[in-house]
Amino acid sequence: MNSRIKPVSRLSIVFILAVVISGSMLTYFSVNNISNLKELTEKKILEEQRGLSVRYLDAIKNNIENLANKFSDELNTHGLLIDSLLKAVSRYDCIDQLFILNKDGTFIFPNFPRLQKNISEASFSDSFKTTFEAGEKAEFVENKLKTARQNYLSSLQLSTEKADSAKAINALGRIYLKLNDFKNARACYQQIVFNYYSELSPDGFPYVYYAIQQLIKISNTATIDEMASMIESALGKMETGAISLNFITEKLLIQIGRWTNNNSFHQQGQLAHINKMIDKINLQLNFISEYETELPELLNIEATGRYLSVGNRYRAINAFSGGSGELILINTNFEKTVGFVVDREKLLAEILGTDIQSGFDFEYLSVLSPGNMNSTEYYLKYSSELLPFFPGLHIQIMVKDENLIKEFITRRSWVYGIASILILVAMLLGIILILRDISREKQIARLRSDFISNVTHELKTPLTSIHMFAESLLLGRVKSVSDKNEYLSIIINESARLKRMINNILEFSKMERVKPEYHFVESNISLILKTTIQEMAYWLEEEKFEVVTELDENISAKIAPEEIKQAFGNLLNNAIKYSTINKKIIIRLFKKANQISIEVEDQGIGIPEDQFDLIFNKFYRVDRKEGISGTGLGLTVIKGIVDAHNGEILVTSTVGKGSKFSILLNK
Ligand code: ADP
Repeated sequence: MNSRIKPVSRLSIVFILAVVISGSMLTYFSVNNISNLKELTEKKILEEQRGLSVRYLDAIKNNIENLANKFSDELNTHGLLIDSLLKAVSRYDCIDQLFILNKDGTFIFPNFPRLQKNISEASFSDSFKTTFEAGEKAEFVENKLKTARQNYLSSLQLSTEKADSAKAINALGRIYLKLNDFKNARACYQQIVFNYYSELSPDGFPYVYYAIQQLIKISNTATIDEMASMIESALGKMETGAISLNFITEKLLIQIGRWTNNNSFHQQGQLAHINKMIDKINLQLNFISEYETELPELLNIEATGRYLSVGNRYRAINAFSGGSGELILINTNFEKTVGFVVDREKLLAEILGTDIQSGFDFEYLSVLSPGNMNSTEYYLKYSSELLPFFPGLHIQIMVKDENLIKEFITRRSWVYGIASILILVAMLLGIILILRDISREKQIARLRSDFISNVTHELKTPLTSIHMFAESLLLGRVKSVSDKNEYLSIIINESARLKRMINNILEFSKMERVKPEYHFVESNISLILKTTIQEMAYWLEEEKFEVVTELDENISAKIAPEEIKQAFGNLLNNAIKYSTINKKIIIRLFKKANQISIEVEDQGIGIPEDQFDLIFNKFYRVDRKEGISGTGLGLTVIKGIVDAHNGEILVTSTVGKGSKFSILLNK
């Protein structure tokens, strides 16, 4: 035996090693993975939380840019028409306080003149001035109210300027009040509210403020509707900046509020509308008080660079006074400086309310907090400052349900565990298959080498006797005619045996290479069987066999006659070879249902049942103590031939009692 490892085996060992090494590594890593799963999951959660916080920051940035763009669109549509601009931006929840500034930083809207303007002092007509002053003298010095009323009426007729008319009407209203003429007083103040609302007194005080206060004083249940609509109109104009705001406005609003709450209106929604306007104006006042000095400064901070650019037209400024953290967007590229305050709460609530978590493995809870809270309640918490827009404000991200982490870990462990087991099983299976293949290869190699020695031996036996008998004949050693004939018949029979053996080898090698093509012809099968028995009669007689034939003479079918003859010859040959004591052979040919059956039954040594299937394999031989020679090809060839006929070969056998082989062909 050659003890060196063959190349195929070497390759298989390398392959097995590769499978074992990589499989073990994979298993090791997945086991490792399972034990580190908690850590890995926590890392993953932190990663997701970080990702989520980035999404929030992006969303804030995008939303602010969006707001700026929308605001620009509205500016382009409405210009500085405050009424329509206000109405337009009121549709955006997150745009809080709109403002328009002069380039010097003074307020245009909300209308809050920073310096008291002396605009109505100079009147165009001297006659107005003299008459009015006469009225004032009569009213305040001489206490002649009726004269004063006359003078004011005349001055009103003489006035050419709106400011003068307003001044005269205001004075008239005052006189009517003093004269207890409430009807005329109301008429005067009504005129101021509806027609002279934007006029200011010489000290920059809107007449309308005074008018409203007086109207409230003299109002009664009969005039409620009238009053309500006057107040609605005045508040509307204050809200849109037509009536300027000042340090008195707040008090006036309180007065109005008190009056509205003490009266019940007839028109539905009027009270709510008035209160809403009061709120809005109060917001404007708050805004003014907070930013009156600051906004102009903010506009000059270009040099300090303390602003962020939003889009290419806006500066975002975080109001630093008072730490309110309000975000102001200013557009300096427009003809006036225009801007608005971002309602931070609404903006953030809007973002928190969106479906921002899609694609994550876990669900998170996001909370806003003013500082970096250190909560011990949650063991996995990520906090991120909302920079750059809302410094100081943090978003805290926590896993919504901590139980889910445990579930996730268990689920993952199962997946890894099952995958590892599958890998192991696959690995083992692979190795088993490889080993099985190797042993099969080895077995075939052994069978092949056995076959070669068997075949040589098998061929040598008939050749030796042919040679021996032919030589005797040639040398004239055989004298009698009957001996000569016997020798010749031995030579013929031995060569027939040789021929059958060689035919088997040829047939087998043909089958191995290609699917053999047979010539099928209608043939009488009993004739074929008889001829074959005839050809082997010598051996049967020699070995003293009792041969029983039960042949149905009329059976013919479309078969390959040469090959069927070869197959039957092999069966008969085996029956002779493997019958050592009881030498009886029964040969049958009959039809059953749709099949033709050729049977060869002997009473020989038999075949163990567990080998019934194996004996048809190439080179396979049953180990025998009897030492009967053979090539292991006879049955293989028979099976090939029978298969080509779409038939079957069956075997039944009992060890020590005999065997029966049946070839079944389709009719
Ligand atoms: P060979 O006879 O050359 O060994 P075969 O393919 O014809 O090869 O047969 C395979 C094996 O089947 C034989 O080794 C033999 O052990 C067994 N066998 C075949 N026919 C018979 C039979 N009639 N009786 C007993 N054993 C048989």
